[in-house]
Amino acid sequence: MKFNIALLKGDGIGPEIVESAVRVLEVVGKKFGHEFDFKAYDIGGVAIDKYGKPLPEETVSGCLASDSVLLGAVGGPKWDTLPGNIRPEKALLGIREAMGLFTNLRPAKLYSALKDDCPLRSDIVENGFDIMIVRELTGGIYFGERGMREGKYGEEAYDTECYSRMEIERIAKVAFESARKRRGKLISIDKANVLESSRLWRKVVHEIAEQYPDVECTDMLVDNAAMQLVRNPAQFDVIVTSNMFGDILSDEASQITGSIGMLPSASLGETKRGLYEPIHGSAPDIAGKGLANPIATILSAAMMLLYSFGLSEEHDCIVNAVDKVLEEGFRTADIAHGAPALSTTEITDKIIERI
Ligand code: NAD
Repeated sequence: MKFNIALLKGDGIGPEIVESAVRVLEVVGKKFGHEFDFKAYDIGGVAIDKYGKPLPEETVSGCLASDSVLLGAVGGPKWDTLPGNIRPEKALLGIREAMGLFTNLRPAKLYSALKDDCPLRSDIVENGFDIMIVRELTGGIYFGERGMREGKYGEEAYDTECYSRMEIERIAKVAFESARKRRGKLISIDKANVLESSRLWRKVVHEIAEQYPDVECTDMLVDNAAMQLVRNPAQFDVIVTSNMFGDILSDEASQITGSIGMLPSASLGETKRGLYEPIHGSAPDIAGKGLANPIATILSAAMMLLYSFGLSEEHDCIVNAVDKVLEEGFRTADIAHGAPALSTTEITDKIIERI
């Protein structure tokens, strides 16, 4: 099969980690008889420097013409003082919107080889954990009505959490499908004891649950979920939640894996075309030094093979190669704890050897 992949390398360590993922994809392509055609477009700070804006039209049209998109990271101190509308991060919202991406999938897995990196007590994570967070990406309070006004106590600001039945239905379906392919357990997280929008969320999730009798579906209040994630993370399989709750909980979940350089993500819409990126930022402090851990980006590319191209064997091949490299004790500096570490290119070579 042949696939066109748009590469948005971005800033900081972006180019280095995307390069590693491209090398891995090329080797997987060769092994399984697929052709990946890569085209790079500018995004973030590098686009501001060239075109005066973080998301040039050419980048948007290139992504829309591709079969899928792989993103490194954007941002850095050079652009930190620019006004909000031309900041590098603005490009992330712009490209998600242009591609109609309403689902964010963020796996948070504790690798057995990296148990010591987990900040939780060892008895809590004895059996590891493997959580898939399904976050609604284009609705809720980040996109609701907002403004400033004069209130009872003078100047006040407000933001509105609003969810339509349609938005809840479509994200719930993605979550149930995901749970069906995993351990069959879905926890829907809301604040239905207080918020009207959460009560609709809960009602609609329960309606959709009737179409998935094979998936065990329960509700959890968001404050409890924040506690349960550190008390007993292994109880979670798939989580579905709103934009803001998902934003916060997915960062909490990533922290308890102890390794920000290891976590991939996928943003999906109605079509097969998705946007795949590591959850970390552009790490300007280590850019260009060969210190970046490329695994999050390599695993993001693996997610692309699975979710956009339906290539599950090829996906598993990458995941297993990463597992083997870690089991054999190879580390980049961020997970080496002072022990000898491999560079970005060297660990990529090790992963490629195991493919
Ligand atoms: P960051 O994720 O870039 O870095 C946090 C820390 O983790 C740093 O010490 C960094 O060196 C380390 N780190 C991150 N990824 C790593 C990797 N792959 N290997 C080894 N170490 C890694 O977060 P930050 O420092 O808060 O932000 C830096 C810039 O990135 C900012 O401009 C921010 O706005 C931007 N950012 C972009 C995205 C994105 O593009 N999706 C996400 C978050 C932050």
